Amino acid sequence: MSSQSKSLETLVFDNVYRQLPAEFFDPSESDPLRDAHLISFNADAAALIGLCPSEAERDDFVDHFNGLKSLRGSEPLAMCYSGHQFGAYVPRLGDGRAILLGQVRNGHNQLWDLQVKGGGVTKYSRQGDGRAVLRSSIREYLCSEAMHGLGIPTTRALCLIGSREPVVREQMEEGALVVRMAQSHVRFGSFEYFYHSDQEQYLKPLADYVITHFLPELMESSRPYLDLLKHAVSVTAKLIAQWQGVGFAHGVMNSDNMSILGLTLDYGPFGFLDTYQAGFICNHSDHQGRYAFNQQPTIGMFNLSCLATALLPLLADNKEAAMEQARDALKEYWPIFKHAYSKIACDKLGLLEVHEGDLTLWSELLSTMEGEADFTLLFRQLSGFDEHQPRQNHALRDMFIQREAFDLWAEKYAARILNQGEAERLERQQRMYAVNPKYILRNYMAEQAIRRAEDEGDYSEVERLYQLLRNPYDEQKEMADYAKLPPQWAQRISVSCSS
Ligand code: AMP
Ligand code: MG
Repeated sequence: MSSQSKSLETLVFDNVYRQLPAEFFDPSESDPLRDAHLISFNADAAALIGLCPSEAERDDFVDHFNGLKSLRGSEPLAMCYSGHQFGAYVPRLGDGRAILLGQVRNGHNQLWDLQVKGGGVTKYSRQGDGRAVLRSSIREYLCSEAMHGLGIPTTRALCLIGSREPVVREQMEEGALVVRMAQSHVRFGSFEYFYHSDQEQYLKPLADYVITHFLPELMESSRPYLDLLKHAVSVTAKLIAQWQGVGFAHGVMNSDNMSILGLTLDYGPFGFLDTYQAGFICNHSDHQGRYAFNQQPTIGMFNLSCLATALLPLLADNKEAAMEQARDALKEYWPIFKHAYSKIACDKLGLLEVHEGDLTLWSELLSTMEGEADFTLLFRQLSGFDEHQPRQNHALRDMFIQREAFDLWAEKYAARILNQGEAERLERQQRMYAVNPKYILRNYMAEQAIRRAEDEGDYSEVERLYQLLRNPYDEQKEMADYAKLPPQWAQRISVSCSS
């Protein structure tokens, strides 16, 4: 083992969150799951904390995350927060089933939260049982790594642990754990909690915590808290632009699920678009479509407004001046979003620069695709578009029911591409392949892995998908079956908040 390569015993914990006042958390131990066993281990995430991958082969590896053995230096706790759920303020949420084992400082002086999700009840569990079931844990494990593979900021997952612990949902299921990692799990709701519970004195230590450990460049600022808000505005706008670019719908964009660092956080009833549908609702419990795919950018703004409100006491002594600053910061949201989104749209179309009219070209394509073409397959196929014979792109054309509508679009697109005067079509194709994934975690793929795991205790499909989705832009020819239209039965899959 090199000095970078730590064993479970030699991981260096530096539990700085725990140094915050007692109001920020509740000390909380994991309640072990019966017969826990390792399902999948993520060596990439392990590298982030310098953990030697062979540690996963130890008989007692799982015990360290299942509350049977403690990690040296770990001081487990549940974090306190609140948040706006479906638009309504809920005064106290907090980690009801996640336990922060501690914070590891790696060889690059970076902090990483090590958190188990599904570790049992905490002070914040309310009526919940503190557990996470296997199906939702498989989804979180795979999707967080899939998002990372796509190049989208996200929490990570060190490993997935299964068990024989019975957990009651609509039916009996098995409990599982995801060991989740993030530089920080602080959410918009962490700030909202102190603001709305008349504990404004804790806003400053929380903001200072985030700045000192994760955004040290803001320490030099003359207005660090305004800059913190601006930073959140910027990273959130860019994050959501990226979601829109890969067809990812989060499903529960409550402000307690919004990371202050702009990470995709809390994978529940998420879904990737199959056929393009602007108003796609992935969460079957979301009857009003509040979190529909095309609503995400607006909801991002709503959540940032909640954050801005909570930060008001830090912005200025005078309420009017504070509001003015908050408004200024929020004003940056739409321009940043639109800039990022236009860039992504042009990249996906293989356009070297954003020109006037390009966004119209983009939205015309999307409207033509609505209800007809598969979002992922279309852009992958578009990467091979022959601009010299726009009507001869048969594989692409056949993705549409209204082929004439596509032909009209293809003519305009061909003209735009020709106009760009690029010598090599292959070059454009390579560029487009690097931004238009071949593989995404479709619901049916997760479902297949879940069924095998639940029915047969066979986790090979989890492993296969994990490996596949690490490199979603690569051809991986032997895996090409995963780059086909979803099967008919996929339409019947229903994903709700129950997890
Ligand atoms: P989520 O929808 O997973 O973001 O959860 C929203 C809130 O409910 C968070 O405070 C969670 O900790 C809590 N929660 C969700 N499921 C459970 C559960 N099974 N037991 C306890 N708390 C839960
Ligand atoms: Mg949550």
